[in-house]
Amino acid sequence: GNNNINAKLVLLGDMGAGKSSLVLRFVKGQFVEFQESTIGAAFFSQTLALDGATVKFEIWDTAGQERYHSLAPMYYRGAAAAIIVYDITSTESFERAKKWVQELQKQGNPNMVTALAGNKADLEDKRKEGRTYAEDNGLFFMETSAKTAINVNDIFYEIAKSLGFL
Ligand code: GDP
Ligand code: MG
Repeated sequence: GNNNINAKLVLLGDMGAGKSSLVLRFVKGQFVEFQESTIGAAFFSQTLALDGATVKFEIWDTAGQERYHSLAPMYYRGAAAAIIVYDITSTESFERAKKWVQELQKQGNPNMVTALAGNKADLEDKRKEGRTYAEDNGLFFMETSAKTAINVNDIFYEIAKSLGFL
């Protein structure tokens, strides 16, 4: 069979949750304290390999602002996977993440693998809720930190596995 597969993946979530930082960590292994906010959306790609199979993720990093909301379907339609990102220290960003889950459940591709990333896990002393909600809604869940790199590769690996590619 074909062991080299492309998978379109979209990042959704509130502005400031750390979407761009997760992509930067995953694609370049870097972190910056003052990440510029994304205008519209940005595209990246990164390949994961395991046991002779490769998945090339084609990643759409969207802007979190409400005024770009109407553009979001362009990015999540046809996506094989989505990572909904929130900031574990921000109730507001968690509420926004729930809205994205609802939107994908209603309008997204039903076969899409959806992951919830509780980002800024390095700030765990300020953590709010997350895991219970993910379990109740059938979401794959991890707390990530773009800053320390914790679980960043892992969430992409778990998505690739869920897609049946690795
Ligand atoms: P986006 O709007 O969702 O793309 O968020 P950004 O990636 O632009 O990040 C917003 C801010 O949060 C930036 O100042 C980042 O440096 C910071 N940030 C992102 N990820 C983390 C993280 O895992 N830990 C900490 N402490 N800060 C983070
Ligand atoms: Mg951004």
